Amino acid sequence: MKLLRRLAWIFGLLLMATVAFVVWVMWPVGVAPEPAKLFTDLPRTGAEAPRQYIPSIDPPAAPPSAQADEDCAAGQAPSGAADANASALTALIWSPFGRPEVGWEIYAPRVAVEIHTGCAPSTPRFAAALAVWQRTHGLPPSGRLDAITFQPMLTGWHRARPFVRINAKGICPGAPPLETLETARPEESYGGKVIQLRPSALDAYRRMVAEAKAAGVIRRPEALTLFSGFREPDADAARCARDNNCQGLVRTICSAHRTGLAMDLYIAAAPGFGPDSAADDNRRAMARSSVFQWMIVNAGRFGFVNYPYEPWHWEWTGEALLPGVPISSLPQAGSEPLEPAAR
Ligand SMILES: [Zn+2]
Repeated sequence: MKLLRRLAWIFGLLLMATVAFVVWVMWPVGVAPEPAKLFTDLPRTGAEAPRQYIPSIDPPAAPPSAQADEDCAAGQAPSGAADANASALTALIWSPFGRPEVGWEIYAPRVAVEIHTGCAPSTPRFAAALAVWQRTHGLPPSGRLDAITFQPMLTGWHRARPFVRINAKGICPGAPPLETLETARPEESYGGKVIQLRPSALDAYRRMVAEAKAAGVIRRPEALTLFSGFREPDADAARCARDNNCQGLVRTICSAHRTGLAMDLYIAAAPGFGPDSAADDNRRAMARSSVFQWMIVNAGRFGFVNYPYEPWHWEWTGEALLPGVPISSLPQAGSEPLEPAAR
Protein backbone atom coordinates (compact mmCIF):
# COMPACT_ATOMS: atom_id res chain seq x y z
CA MET A 1 0.00 0.00 0.00
CA LYS A 2 2.86 2.30 0.93
CA LEU A 3 4.58 1.47 -2.34
CA LEU A 4 1.36 2.13 -4.26
CA ARG A 5 1.00 5.53 -2.61
CA ARG A 6 4.59 6.37 -3.41
CA LEU A 7 4.09 5.35 -7.06
CA ALA A 8 0.94 7.47 -7.28
CA TRP A 9 2.89 10.40 -5.81
CA ILE A 10 5.72 10.01 -8.35
CA PHE A 11 3.19 9.66 -11.18
CA GLY A 12 1.45 12.84 -10.04
CA LEU A 13 4.75 14.74 -9.96
CA LEU A 14 5.64 13.52 -13.44
CA LEU A 15 2.23 14.55 -14.74
CA MET A 16 2.60 18.04 -13.28
CA ALA A 17 6.09 18.40 -14.72
CA THR A 18 4.85 17.32 -18.16
CA VAL A 19 1.96 19.77 -18.08
CA ALA A 20 4.28 22.55 -16.93
CA PHE A 21 6.72 21.75 -19.75
CA VAL A 22 3.99 21.72 -22.40
CA VAL A 23 2.61 25.03 -21.15
CA TRP A 24 6.11 26.51 -21.13
CA VAL A 25 6.81 25.42 -24.71
CA MET A 26 3.43 26.33 -26.14
CA TRP A 27 2.88 29.56 -24.27
CA PRO A 28 2.68 32.47 -26.72
CA VAL A 29 5.72 34.62 -25.96
CA GLY A 30 4.28 37.59 -27.75
CA VAL A 31 2.54 38.10 -31.03
CA ALA A 32 4.93 38.76 -33.89
CA PRO A 33 4.49 42.36 -34.93
CA GLU A 34 3.20 43.33 -38.30
CA PRO A 35 6.14 44.52 -40.38
CA ALA A 36 5.73 48.21 -40.01
CA LYS A 37 5.71 50.68 -42.83
CA LEU A 38 6.71 54.27 -42.70
CA PHE A 39 5.07 57.50 -43.61
CA THR A 40 1.38 57.33 -43.26
CA ASP A 41 0.44 60.39 -45.25
CA LEU A 42 -2.36 62.76 -44.45
CA PRO A 43 -5.20 62.01 -44.73
CA ARG A 44 -4.95 58.32 -44.01
CA THR A 45 -6.18 56.19 -46.85
CA GLY A 46 -8.53 53.22 -46.57
CA ALA A 47 -7.73 49.78 -45.26
CA GLU A 48 -4.66 48.13 -46.69
CA ALA A 49 -4.62 44.75 -48.32
CA PRO A 50 -3.64 42.11 -45.77
CA ARG A 51 -0.02 41.14 -45.99
CA GLN A 52 1.33 37.69 -45.57
CA TYR A 53 3.73 37.74 -42.66
CA ILE A 54 6.40 35.25 -41.78
CA PRO A 55 7.45 35.76 -38.20
CA SER A 56 11.14 36.25 -37.77
CA ILE A 57 13.23 34.15 -35.43
CA ASP A 58 16.05 36.64 -35.51
CA PRO A 59 17.35 38.82 -32.73
CA PRO A 60 16.90 41.58 -31.75
CA ALA A 61 13.20 40.99 -31.26
CA ALA A 62 11.69 44.43 -30.88
CA PRO A 63 11.52 46.60 -33.98
CA PRO A 64 11.19 50.33 -33.54
CA SER A 65 7.89 50.11 -35.29
CA ALA A 66 5.57 52.78 -36.51
CA GLN A 67 2.37 53.09 -34.56
CA ALA A 68 -0.40 51.55 -36.64
CA ASP A 69 -3.09 53.63 -34.98
CA GLU A 70 -1.32 56.98 -35.04
CA ASP A 71 -3.36 60.01 -35.96
CA CYS A 72 -0.90 62.02 -38.04
CA ALA A 73 -3.02 65.18 -37.86
CA ALA A 74 -3.01 65.19 -34.07
CA GLY A 75 -0.22 65.72 -31.59
CA GLN A 76 1.06 68.57 -29.45
CA ALA A 77 3.33 69.99 -32.12
CA PRO A 78 5.10 73.24 -31.36
CA SER A 79 3.58 76.05 -33.36
CA GLY A 80 4.76 76.18 -36.96
CA ALA A 81 6.96 73.08 -36.60
CA ALA A 82 5.09 70.89 -39.09
CA ASP A 83 5.23 73.58 -41.79
CA ALA A 84 8.88 74.26 -41.03
CA ASN A 85 9.70 70.56 -41.39
CA ALA A 86 7.75 70.37 -44.64
CA SER A 87 9.82 73.12 -46.22
CA ALA A 88 13.17 72.11 -44.68
CA LEU A 89 12.65 68.61 -46.05
CA THR A 90 13.62 69.90 -49.49
CA ALA A 91 15.35 73.18 -48.63
CA LEU A 92 17.55 72.77 -45.53
CA ILE A 93 21.13 73.70 -46.43
CA TRP A 94 23.59 71.77 -44.32
CA SER A 95 26.54 69.35 -44.38
CA PRO A 96 25.66 66.32 -42.25
CA PHE A 97 28.52 64.27 -43.76
CA GLY A 98 31.02 67.03 -44.42
CA ARG A 99 29.79 68.04 -47.83
CA PRO A 100 26.90 70.34 -48.64
CA GLU A 101 23.47 68.82 -49.05
CA VAL A 102 20.04 70.29 -49.61
CA GLY A 103 17.08 68.92 -47.69
CA TRP A 104 16.87 65.95 -45.35
CA GLU A 105 14.52 63.65 -47.23
CA ILE A 106 17.33 61.09 -47.62
CA TYR A 107 17.40 60.64 -43.85
CA ALA A 108 13.69 61.07 -43.17
CA PRO A 109 12.90 57.33 -42.95
CA ARG A 110 15.60 56.82 -40.34
CA VAL A 111 14.59 59.91 -38.38
CA ALA A 112 10.99 58.67 -38.31
CA VAL A 113 12.09 55.35 -36.87
CA GLU A 114 14.32 57.12 -34.36
CA ILE A 115 11.44 59.23 -33.04
CA HIS A 116 8.96 56.34 -33.21
CA THR A 117 6.44 57.65 -35.67
CA GLY A 118 5.01 56.34 -38.91
CA CYS A 119 3.69 59.77 -39.89
CA ALA A 120 5.17 61.79 -42.74
CA PRO A 121 7.72 64.54 -41.95
CA SER A 122 5.22 67.31 -42.76
CA THR A 123 2.64 66.19 -40.22
CA PRO A 124 1.89 67.60 -36.75
CA ARG A 125 2.37 64.14 -35.27
CA PHE A 126 5.92 63.93 -36.67
CA ALA A 127 6.77 67.35 -35.20
CA ALA A 128 5.29 66.34 -31.85
CA ALA A 129 7.29 63.09 -31.79
CA LEU A 130 10.44 65.00 -32.71
CA ALA A 131 9.83 67.48 -29.88
CA VAL A 132 9.58 64.57 -27.42
CA TRP A 133 12.84 63.15 -28.76
CA GLN A 134 14.54 66.53 -28.49
CA ARG A 135 13.36 66.98 -24.90
CA THR A 136 14.62 63.56 -23.85
CA HIS A 137 17.99 64.33 -25.46
CA GLY A 138 18.45 67.66 -23.72
CA LEU A 139 17.67 69.79 -26.77
CA PRO A 140 15.17 72.63 -27.12
CA PRO A 141 11.89 70.90 -28.10
CA SER A 142 11.27 72.90 -31.26
CA GLY A 143 9.80 69.95 -33.17
CA ARG A 144 11.92 71.04 -36.13
CA LEU A 145 14.54 68.84 -37.72
CA ASP A 146 17.78 70.77 -37.99
CA ALA A 147 21.52 70.06 -37.95
CA ILE A 148 21.71 70.44 -34.16
CA THR A 149 19.04 67.77 -33.69
CA PHE A 150 20.39 65.50 -36.38
CA GLN A 151 23.92 65.38 -34.99
CA PRO A 152 23.19 63.30 -31.84
CA MET A 153 20.93 61.04 -33.89
CA LEU A 154 23.76 60.44 -36.33
CA THR A 155 26.20 59.74 -33.51
CA GLY A 156 23.80 57.13 -32.14
CA TRP A 157 23.44 55.51 -35.54
CA HIS A 158 27.21 55.34 -35.98
CA ARG A 159 27.61 53.87 -32.52
CA ALA A 160 25.09 51.15 -33.36
CA ARG A 161 27.72 49.69 -35.69
CA PRO A 162 30.22 47.41 -33.90
CA PHE A 163 32.64 48.16 -36.73
CA VAL A 164 32.59 51.87 -35.94
CA ARG A 165 32.90 51.25 -32.21
CA ILE A 166 36.05 49.17 -32.68
CA ASN A 167 37.44 51.69 -35.20
CA ALA A 168 36.97 54.40 -32.60
CA LYS A 169 39.44 52.48 -30.41
CA GLY A 170 41.97 52.56 -33.23
CA ILE A 171 41.45 48.90 -34.12
CA CYS A 172 40.72 47.43 -37.53
CA PRO A 173 38.93 44.08 -37.17
CA GLY A 174 40.42 40.97 -38.71
CA ALA A 175 39.33 39.28 -41.92
CA PRO A 176 38.01 35.71 -41.87
CA PRO A 177 39.91 33.01 -43.79
CA LEU A 178 38.50 32.65 -47.31
CA GLU A 179 37.65 28.99 -46.82
CA THR A 180 35.25 29.84 -44.00
CA LEU A 181 33.10 32.05 -46.23
CA GLU A 182 30.00 31.05 -48.11
CA THR A 183 29.16 32.15 -51.63
CA ALA A 184 25.79 33.68 -52.40
CA ARG A 185 23.62 31.98 -54.98
CA PRO A 186 23.77 33.51 -58.48
CA GLU A 187 20.21 34.82 -58.19
CA GLU A 188 21.17 36.57 -54.94
CA SER A 189 23.91 38.60 -56.56
CA TYR A 190 23.58 41.70 -58.69
CA GLY A 191 24.92 41.30 -62.22
CA GLY A 192 26.34 37.84 -61.55
CA LYS A 193 29.11 39.01 -59.21
CA VAL A 194 30.63 36.42 -56.90
CA ILE A 195 29.64 37.52 -53.40
CA GLN A 196 31.10 35.88 -50.32
CA LEU A 197 30.03 36.38 -46.72
CA ARG A 198 30.35 34.76 -43.35
CA PRO A 199 27.74 31.95 -43.38
CA SER A 200 25.60 33.29 -40.55
CA ALA A 201 25.46 36.72 -42.15
CA LEU A 202 24.30 35.17 -45.41
CA ASP A 203 21.70 33.16 -43.49
CA ALA A 204 20.35 36.28 -41.82
CA TYR A 205 20.30 38.06 -45.18
CA ARG A 206 18.24 35.23 -46.64
CA ARG A 207 15.70 35.29 -43.83
CA MET A 208 15.38 39.03 -44.18
CA VAL A 209 14.88 38.90 -47.95
CA ALA A 210 12.27 36.16 -47.59
CA GLU A 211 10.35 38.36 -45.21
CA ALA A 212 10.70 41.45 -47.42
CA LYS A 213 9.29 39.41 -50.31
CA ALA A 214 6.39 38.23 -48.18
CA ALA A 215 5.73 41.83 -47.14
CA GLY A 216 5.35 42.76 -50.80
CA VAL A 217 7.96 45.52 -50.86
CA ILE A 218 10.15 44.05 -53.59
CA ARG A 219 8.95 45.58 -56.83
CA ARG A 220 11.83 44.64 -59.16
CA PRO A 221 13.96 41.51 -59.44
CA GLU A 222 17.24 43.18 -58.53
CA ALA A 223 15.90 44.67 -55.29
CA LEU A 224 17.92 43.44 -52.29
CA THR A 225 20.38 41.53 -54.47
CA LEU A 226 23.99 41.75 -53.28
CA PHE A 227 26.56 43.79 -55.14
CA SER A 228 29.34 43.58 -52.60
CA GLY A 229 30.18 41.36 -49.66
CA PHE A 230 33.54 40.27 -48.32
CA ARG A 231 36.44 42.20 -49.81
CA GLU A 232 39.97 41.01 -49.14
CA PRO A 233 41.92 43.66 -47.23
CA ASP A 234 45.02 43.12 -49.34
CA ALA A 235 43.13 43.51 -52.58
CA ASP A 236 41.39 46.61 -51.28
CA ALA A 237 44.65 48.11 -50.07
CA ALA A 238 46.47 47.21 -53.30
CA ARG A 239 43.75 48.73 -55.45
CA CYS A 240 43.73 51.74 -53.20
CA ALA A 241 47.50 52.26 -53.55
CA ARG A 242 47.60 51.40 -57.27
CA ASP A 243 44.88 53.90 -58.15
CA ASN A 244 46.32 56.37 -55.66
CA ASN A 245 42.69 57.00 -54.89
CA CYS A 246 41.09 55.55 -51.85
CA GLN A 247 38.06 57.77 -52.22
CA GLY A 248 37.73 58.48 -48.52
CA LEU A 249 34.18 57.41 -47.97
CA VAL A 250 34.21 54.71 -50.60
CA ARG A 251 37.35 52.67 -50.09
CA THR A 252 39.28 53.16 -46.91
CA ILE A 253 42.33 51.49 -45.49
CA CYS A 254 40.04 49.58 -43.17
CA SER A 255 36.81 48.79 -44.93
CA ALA A 256 33.92 47.14 -43.11
CA HIS A 257 33.80 44.76 -46.05
CA ARG A 258 36.91 43.01 -44.73
CA THR A 259 34.79 41.55 -41.90
CA GLY A 260 32.64 39.31 -44.10
CA LEU A 261 29.66 40.76 -42.24
CA ALA A 262 29.11 43.87 -44.41
CA MET A 263 27.09 43.80 -47.57
CA ASP A 264 25.92 46.23 -50.21
CA LEU A 265 22.36 45.66 -51.33
CA TYR A 266 20.58 46.95 -54.38
CA ILE A 267 17.96 49.28 -52.94
CA ALA A 268 16.98 51.43 -55.92
CA ALA A 269 18.66 53.58 -58.54
CA ALA A 270 17.61 56.88 -60.05
CA PRO A 271 17.73 57.02 -63.87
CA GLY A 272 21.34 57.16 -64.99
CA PHE A 273 22.81 56.04 -61.64
CA GLY A 274 24.19 52.77 -60.35
CA PRO A 275 23.09 51.16 -57.09
CA ASP A 276 26.18 52.46 -55.26
CA SER A 277 26.18 56.08 -56.39
CA ALA A 278 26.18 58.48 -53.46
CA ALA A 279 24.74 61.28 -55.61
CA ASP A 280 21.96 62.90 -53.64
CA ASP A 281 19.39 62.27 -56.37
CA ASN A 282 20.24 58.60 -56.20
CA ARG A 283 20.16 58.36 -52.43
CA ARG A 284 16.86 60.24 -52.43
CA ALA A 285 15.42 57.67 -54.85
CA MET A 286 16.53 54.97 -52.43
CA ALA A 287 15.00 56.76 -49.43
CA ARG A 288 11.69 56.95 -51.26
CA SER A 289 11.66 53.26 -52.21
CA SER A 290 9.36 50.84 -50.46
CA VAL A 291 12.23 48.43 -50.02
CA PHE A 292 14.37 50.95 -48.09
CA GLN A 293 11.48 52.09 -45.94
CA TRP A 294 10.83 48.46 -45.09
CA MET A 295 14.52 47.84 -44.37
CA ILE A 296 14.93 50.83 -42.11
CA VAL A 297 12.06 49.59 -39.93
CA ASN A 298 12.62 45.85 -40.10
CA ALA A 299 16.30 45.04 -40.82
CA GLY A 300 17.23 45.53 -37.17
CA ARG A 301 15.14 42.50 -36.26
CA PHE A 302 17.55 40.42 -38.30
CA GLY A 303 20.60 42.02 -36.71
CA PHE A 304 21.41 44.47 -39.51
CA VAL A 305 22.57 48.06 -39.07
CA ASN A 306 22.97 50.64 -41.80
CA TYR A 307 25.61 53.25 -42.52
CA PRO A 308 23.30 56.26 -42.88
CA TYR A 309 25.21 57.96 -45.70
CA GLU A 310 24.83 54.87 -47.87
CA PRO A 311 21.33 53.40 -47.97
CA TRP A 312 22.81 50.28 -49.61
CA HIS A 313 25.46 49.44 -46.99
CA TRP A 314 24.38 47.10 -44.19
CA GLU A 315 26.36 45.27 -41.54
CA TRP A 316 25.25 42.16 -39.71
CA THR A 317 25.80 42.31 -35.97
CA GLY A 318 24.85 38.75 -35.02
CA GLU A 319 28.44 37.58 -34.65
CA ALA A 320 31.45 39.21 -33.10
CA LEU A 321 34.06 40.93 -35.20
CA LEU A 322 37.33 39.04 -35.42
CA PRO A 323 40.30 40.26 -33.38
CA GLY A 324 42.04 43.05 -35.23
CA VAL A 325 45.19 45.11 -35.47
CA PRO A 326 45.88 48.79 -34.80
CA ILE A 327 44.74 50.87 -37.74
CA SER A 328 48.05 52.70 -37.52
CA SER A 329 49.84 49.45 -38.40
CA LEU A 330 48.02 49.08 -41.72
CA PRO A 331 49.57 50.17 -45.02
CA GLN A 332 48.67 53.80 -45.53
CA ALA A 333 50.14 54.27 -49.02
CA GLY A 334 47.85 56.25 -51.23
CA SER A 335 45.12 56.30 -48.69
CA GLU A 336 43.28 59.11 -47.01
CA PRO A 337 42.81 59.35 -43.27
CA LEU A 338 40.10 57.10 -41.97
CA GLU A 339 36.78 58.85 -41.77
CA PRO A 340 34.94 58.28 -38.49
CA ALA A 341 31.93 57.29 -40.55
CA ALA A 342 33.91 55.24 -43.02
CA ARG A 343 32.58 52.01 -44.27
ZN1 LIG B 1 29.44 48.71 -48.44
